[in-house]
Amino acid sequence: MSAAGSDCLFCRIAVGEIPAKIVHESENVLAFRDINPQAPTHVLVIPREHYPHAAALAAGRPEVVAELVVAAGVVAEQEGIAESGYRLLFNTGEQAGQTVFHAHLHVLGGEWLGGLVG
Ligand code: 5GP
Repeated sequence: MSAAGSDCLFCRIAVGEIPAKIVHESENVLAFRDINPQAPTHVLVIPREHYPHAAALAAGRPEVVAELVVAAGVVAEQEGIAESGYRLLFNTGEQAGQTVFHAHLHVLGGEWLGGLVG
């Protein structure tokens, strides 16, 4: 388990200690623009509560996983990419390329994304 609170970048974004371009929020979930976008739309949807990755969130709060996916759909509508299509991605663990150990759902779209993993 990685550290929560002041040691966790996304916990600090969730409480407003570090600024982010927030595009959607609800009681349990926050969505903000990725600082280094990999597509015209690249938004991260996170649980406010700290879990190190999606698998831990699914084990602890499975209903919040559903909230992340619902929030991603709201963001896609807002961004105008719901019809054309978008990719949802959880990097889970170091070998998958996870660099921030607070669960987050990538929402990518706005251009042709190609095959399975791009
Ligand atoms: P991961 O590689 O862990 O799946 O994704 C982490 C994402 O967080 C990366 O796409 C990276 O660009 C993004 N990121 C890292 N630091 C910050 C930050 O301070 N603010 C924002 N908005 N995104 C960040």
